[in-house]
Amino acid sequence: MEKPLNFDNEYLWHPYAALHKGPSRFLAKSAHGTTIETADGLKLIDAVSSWWCMAHGHNAPEIVEAIRRQSEKMCHVMFGGFTHEPAIELGERLVKFLPEGLDKIFFADSGSIAVECAAKMAVQYQHALGRPERCKLVALKGGYHGDTAGAMALSDPDGMHVLFRGIMPQHYFAERPNCRFDEPWDDNDFVSMERVVSEHKNEIAAVICEPVFQGGNGMWLYNAGYLRRLRKLCDEQGILLILDEIASGFYRTGPRFAMEHAGITPDIMCIGKALTGGSITMAACVASEKVADSITNSKIPAFMHGPTYMANPLACAAGIASLDLFANRDYAGSVARIEKRLRANLEPLRNLDNAADVRVLGAIGVLELKAKSSADDILKVIRETGVWLRPFCNYVYTMPPFITSDQEIDRICEAIKLIGECEPAPVIEGEDEFHE
Ligand SMILES: *Cc1c(COP(=O)(O)O)cnc(C)c1O
Repeated sequence: MEKPLNFDNEYLWHPYAALHKGPSRFLAKSAHGTTIETADGLKLIDAVSSWWCMAHGHNAPEIVEAIRRQSEKMCHVMFGGFTHEPAIELGERLVKFLPEGLDKIFFADSGSIAVECAAKMAVQYQHALGRPERCKLVALKGGYHGDTAGAMALSDPDGMHVLFRGIMPQHYFAERPNCRFDEPWDDNDFVSMERVVSEHKNEIAAVICEPVFQGGNGMWLYNAGYLRRLRKLCDEQGILLILDEIASGFYRTGPRFAMEHAGITPDIMCIGKALTGGSITMAACVASEKVADSITNSKIPAFMHGPTYMANPLACAAGIASLDLFANRDYAGSVARIEKRLRANLEPLRNLDNAADVRVLGAIGVLELKAKSSADDILKVIRETGVWLRPFCNYVYTMPPFITSDQEIDRICEAIKLIGECEPAPVIEGEDEFHE
C-alpha cells in the first residue's frame, strides 16, 4: 500500500491538487451502494456521490451487467459514418425522459464538452439566422460550467479560473441572483440581467445558467422566479436560453429537472454527471426543434463538433441501464425523504459559532461556514465518522446517492456538524482558496 501511494504521490496529478502532496489520499479498492472501501479497510459513506454523479449508488448491478454485455459485442466504434443500437436505444429513452420539445441529442464525452457544444450551437443558430455578430453569451456570477477554456469562460469570472483569463473568450456576466429559493420573488433581483442584455443585445447569442442550484462555485440556491423572468426576456430579444442541468438534473433538486421549479424549458440544455449513474463519463447537449431546424436549414447545416469517443457504446449501455433505474424507481419519493431528513439535521446547525448559512433542497444539504476548517481536521472527521465529505472553500455539503438510508443521512449530518465545530483554519496570506 505504501508503494502505490508513493507512486501516486510522485507521478499522478489529481483534480485541483499539487503533486507530492503527502500520504493524505485514500486508496480506494472497491465501492458498492453508498460505500467506498479503502485498501486499509476503511468503509466510507460517499456523501458527495463521487462528485454528484453516483445517483443509484456505486456499482449498481444493472449497470455493471449492461456494460459487461455490451463489452462482449463492441467496446467502441466511431460515430462518424456509423451508428449503433446502444446509441439509438439511449436516444429513445432520453427523448421520453427529457422535457417536451427538447429532443435533438448530441452525445458528448463530459459535462464541460456538452457546455462547449451548447455555446457553439447557440452561435451557429444565430449565424443560421443571419446574425453572425451575435457570438457572445451572458452567464451568471457564481456559476460553474466546467474546466475547458470555453466552459471556464462562462463560469464565475472571479472564481477559480482567474489564472486563465488570458486564454478565455470574453463574455458578459450578470450578478448572481440573490433572492433565495424559499423567499418570495423580488423583481429587483433581475435588474442586473436586464441591464446586461439591453446594453449588449445585438452581440448576444444566448444566456447560460444553472437553474436554481449553482453548484461548483458556491452551492447557492436561488429563486425560480428568476428563471421565469429570464425565459421571457430571452424570448423578447431573440436570445437562446441554455440551461446547464449537469448537476441539478436527474432529481437532485426534487423534480426530474430543476427547471421544473420554474415551469420553463430552455432552447438548449446540458446533462451529464448522473446520466450513466456515475459509471462512465458521458454527457449530452440537447436542442429544441427550433434550434436544430434553423441550423439544419442553413448554409452550414452540420453541427460542427465531433469527439473521438462520441456516443461510446459502453457509456450508452450504462446510460440505458441508468435511465431504466430512473424510470423504475421512485426517486422523487426518495429525494423528498432525504430532503426532510437533511432539513431536520442541518437546520439546527445555524446555531454553530462558525455557521454562516444552511441551505437544503432535494438531495442537497449545505452548511456554509464563516471560515473554513483545516484539511487535517476534515480528514480526522472523515476517518472517525466513516463519512466521505469533500468541502471546498467555506462550503461543507452533502449530495448523497438517492439510495442513502435515513440512518446514513444522520451519520452524514453528524460529520458535517463535527466539521462545523472545528476551529477555523488559520488564514494563510496569498494561499489559493481553491486547491486541495
Ligand atoms: C460538473 C459540472 C460541469 C462539468 O462537467 P464535467 O463532466 O466535469 O466536465 C458543468 N456544469 C455543471 C453545472 C457541473 O456541475
